[in-house]
Amino acid sequence: MSNVLILLGPPGAGKGTQAVRLSAALSLPHVSTGDLFRENLGKGTALGQRAKGFMDAGQLVPDELVIDMLFDRVSHSDCGAGYLLDGFPRTVAQAVALDARLGATKARAINLVVADSILVGRLTGRWTCKQCGNIHHERTSPPAKRGLCDKCGGQLFQRSDDTVEVASKRLAVYHTQTKPVEDHYGKRGQRFDVDGSQAPDQVFAAMLQWAKQGAH
Ligand code: AMP
Repeated sequence: MSNVLILLGPPGAGKGTQAVRLSAALSLPHVSTGDLFRENLGKGTALGQRAKGFMDAGQLVPDELVIDMLFDRVSHSDCGAGYLLDGFPRTVAQAVALDARLGATKARAINLVVADSILVGRLTGRWTCKQCGNIHHERTSPPAKRGLCDKCGGQLFQRSDDTVEVASKRLAVYHTQTKPVEDHYGKRGQRFDVDGSQAPDQVFAAMLQWAKQGAH
């Protein structure tokens, strides 16, 4: 049986930041559907072109495109013993497709809970490392050298969908389409809620403890 962990929570809740740390601590590959789309965009693939309009508008990419891309990624050998999902599933249809694929293996979801009032400020000040995915924030965790990642020295970039307008739209989409995914795992006893407004180290400690407890 493999260890499949899911990070749930609204955009800006800290999924990306925590996923990088959790993936290293548990030796599980970090699989982010947002990163996979951005990679496709960067390479100019047909999939990237199809996803671009949805991403720029803060909307979800249609389920069939996301599910095919994700299932292709997790069929690689590095995911054989399990993986850590960040940004997937974002609709109940995606969750149902994942459940069907996993069969007897029950995915376990960690849900980062953060109030909307905090999220837009977090998203619009965010700077992400191109090289290692580390996330800085211009007010709460600025890099020592402007534009460069503290961890690896890589270049920091601001995501084009981290503007106030698109971030607000992404939050609205989260409430209508992704919130029900939390109930999906909650009802099945496969969800653990963590207060994502705590300091990142506290959030990480709570997640890690729970993730280790139930590992198969
Ligand atoms: P993220 O980096 O997870 O915030 O994702 C960035 C954007 O990629 C989202 O706003 C969506 O447009 C798209 N995306 C990422 N993951 C999914 C998903 N599971 N379902 C639909 N769209 C997604």
